[in-house]
Amino acid sequence: MSARAAILERLAASPERFPGTLLLTGPSEGALERESRRLAARLLCPGDDGAGECRSCRRVEEGIHPDLMTLLPEGVGDIRIERVREALAFAAGRPYEAARRVVRIPKAERLGDAAENALLKSLEEPGDRVRWILSTTRPDALRPTIRSRATVASLPAPSLEERETTWRERGFSEDEARDLVLAADESEEDPAERLKEFRELRLAIVGALEEGLGGGRLPPLLLCAEAMAPRGEDRGPGRLLSELLADAALATAAVPAAALRHRAVAGRLAALARRVPPAALRDAAVMAADAPADRRRGNRRLHFEKILIGLYGAVRRDGGRSG
Ligand SMILES: [Zn+2]
Repeated sequence: MSARAAILERLAASPERFPGTLLLTGPSEGALERESRRLAARLLCPGDDGAGECRSCRRVEEGIHPDLMTLLPEGVGDIRIERVREALAFAAGRPYEAARRVVRIPKAERLGDAAENALLKSLEEPGDRVRWILSTTRPDALRPTIRSRATVASLPAPSLEERETTWRERGFSEDEARDLVLAADESEEDPAERLKEFRELRLAIVGALEEGLGGGRLPPLLLCAEAMAPRGEDRGPGRLLSELLADAALATAAVPAAALRHRAVAGRLAALARRVPPAALRDAAVMAADAPADRRRGNRRLHFEKILIGLYGAVRRDGGRSG
């Protein structure tokens, strides 16, 4: 059970004082889903049922409470405007049995412009009979007009172990759960595909380091630098390079493989680390984690080129070292 923000404890404690519109943000869609459902149950519960075990709370959990509506996008597109209009009609209606109605909008970043416009008035003044609970992993993707109408509460980031446990509960093996956490993608969509891409990228980076630093060839390192600077603001590849270099630096300090982040390639990193001065690995790891936020792809590529060429130079200067 992950820690819960104090503001959420206060909100759940007094349904009467719950804000008309709550925007719940956090790093994991799974955690947002659980929290928004728990708050909805609390708002609809006829009693003071902390455990959420009464009939009303159970029906919220099963998604069949008549005073709860959940608005979801269909497929990969935006939430459809027709569904938003249905939600507005539901929100304006008299509750069947609870003191109020609740509309949940998970993935609120997928409200399109028209949907946001249609919602503004009700979010601003929902009245006593409805509570809106929006949630998103990407609050920046919501327009300020929506954010300014909501009370914002953030869930704390779950620990590494909690995130691994969540993936294992979804049927992934121990190794897969670990790599999914390391892949650090927050979307939680299509995890099998992301796992595959992540592992391919990791093998490509390790291969480039082996060829470049172990084999003394510059071109694989330049190609690697290119791959570290993808379009857009994805900083995942640079972070992965940084973690691999940090693991390699730890391997030279005789840290057991089990303590490394990327256990799957620990042996290869340890072999690589025997050829590179540890201080150079550590410096490179720090620099790789600190890629410029600059959107110009060329500048970011140069940043990674500088790091990898620096390592290449350190290996050549240190040529006497090996094995
Ligand atoms: Zn209850």
